Amino acid sequence: MSQAQQENFPPQLLTELEAIKAAALSDDYAYRQLAHLTENIGPRPSGSAQAAAAVDYVAGELRKLGLEVQLEEVKVPHWVRGAETAELVEYPGRAAGTSQKIVLTALGGSTSTAAEGIVADVVVVNNFDELKALGRDKVAGKIVLFNELFDKQKAAAGLAFMAYGDAVRYRGAGPKVAADLGAVAALVRSVASADFRLPHTGWSAAAGIPAGAVTAEDADLMAHLYAQGKVRMRLTLTPQKLPDTTSYNVIADLKGSEHPEQLVVVSGHLDSWDLGTGAIDDGAGVVVAMEAAEIAQRLHLRPRRTLRVIAWIDEETGGAGSQTYTKDHASEFANHVAAIESDAGAAHPLGFDVKISPRATELLRPVLGVLESFGATVLEPSIYPPGADIAAMSEAGVPALGVMQDGRTYFHYHHSAADTLDKVVPAELRENAAAMAVMGYALAGMKEPLPR
Ligand SMILES: [Zn+2]
Repeated sequence: MSQAQQENFPPQLLTELEAIKAAALSDDYAYRQLAHLTENIGPRPSGSAQAAAAVDYVAGELRKLGLEVQLEEVKVPHWVRGAETAELVEYPGRAAGTSQKIVLTALGGSTSTAAEGIVADVVVVNNFDELKALGRDKVAGKIVLFNELFDKQKAAAGLAFMAYGDAVRYRGAGPKVAADLGAVAALVRSVASADFRLPHTGWSAAAGIPAGAVTAEDADLMAHLYAQGKVRMRLTLTPQKLPDTTSYNVIADLKGSEHPEQLVVVSGHLDSWDLGTGAIDDGAGVVVAMEAAEIAQRLHLRPRRTLRVIAWIDEETGGAGSQTYTKDHASEFANHVAAIESDAGAAHPLGFDVKISPRATELLRPVLGVLESFGATVLEPSIYPPGADIAAMSEAGVPALGVMQDGRTYFHYHHSAADTLDKVVPAELRENAAAMAVMGYALAGMKEPLPR
């Protein structure tokens, strides 16, 4: 160890970090909390009764641990899913009197069709350039399908988030681009790394037209038939946008012994999509952040700086929780020593994506020695903030870390009805709790604040 590493991580602190790791790897606090959030409370979309119940529950559990808990008021959107059905009613070779069912789900923020649905011709494009080449003449009045393929090989090779980033542009921006050319509705191929004829929802920029995600299988079907001739669809999507409502970020402090004004944030987001129960996205992130504080209390360890647990609200539908925190706390960001978010699932942690200085990375090397026994030793420099809810903090200069999970199966289930508790392997969740708790406590306990 260098002298700076030795000064920052004296033997006593390293012993405490080992004890924290051992506690995390042998306890199911996080899993029990996750079971309650997902199975007893259920899906937690912004504005829902379940999101409100989850805020109350997490705040109560953190108070039980003896933390100082505040609820930070956040105005959140409230969008609720309605009917969602579609069928192809005209296509080459159709047997008289038949139609083909299309499995789909509305994207967040989608507007509604008439209750009885709309019927329109389908246009299938592979990318934005193809749509623009068609022009308004061939797009106006039609239902556009963006058939962008998800690069499964990238995901299988460990680059799942890169594959997601490429494909998700169509979910985010496609409906608006189609609407600007006069389309009456827009569909995207589900952004996912596995095909179980399961639609995957997600945020989409307000487009003023109904917008949905079809399954990969149904996107293929539509593309094949469209290549043969005219395809018409009956589409019914009846979601509703209700008035914005009040929700909360849950903020809970374990006060530091020497520098209570200096903060280390450990966090995940409490809201989820409505189709599943938000186990991997992102109940898991919330419960491992909770466990970081629970272990410190259980072992009677008091960090030098304040360990702040945050359960963010509204990551999925606009990020109002993160925006509100930024507005309310920007003047204190100089005292935010570091922020960690876990929002990439609950699979085996490989380490952290980091937006920190090279000197900070070097200083944290002794912590990797503690994490080494279960393999979470990667500190991967990231040009992007490693977590949506800590992005503004990161942009403001706060050192930011995102727990980096094995992402090979994450997008099989992400934003679908299959994001449920059974996808979380208890032993892997324990490893995530260990990674979060050890790194959180290290940042809160090292002698000097992590350099910027
Ligand atoms: Zn998430």
